Amino acid sequence: MYDKVCKKCGRRLSEYLETGYLGCPDCYFYFADEIELSLKSIQGRIGNKGKRPFSDPVDKELLSEYSKLLEERERAGIEGRFDDMARLSGEINELFRELKKRGLV
Ligand SMILES: [Zn+2]
Repeated sequence: MYDKVCKKCGRRLSEYLETGYLGCPDCYFYFADEIELSLKSIQGRIGNKGKRPFSDPVDKELLSEYSKLLEERERAGIEGRFDDMARLSGEINELFRELKKRGLV
């Protein structure tokens, strides 16, 4: 079966789908499409029962900020801007902790 792997920590997409947990800050970058889809399907299921949505607007904001930072760091790496990479990595780790606290990763 088709599977994706996080190049940083080695977590498989199938593991993420099974457990709902990411292994490291970079997983979100590698699994971005699937995470987006699974968030939508969870929201759809819960929405039908009229319960509280899985993620509130702040959650969505944090996740989109997170994926933006990962893309920026990727670009900084390609362009050889290592100071920017180091700064972005710090921000990414901070945001990852916040996402973890909220149970999103
Ligand atoms: Zn990872």
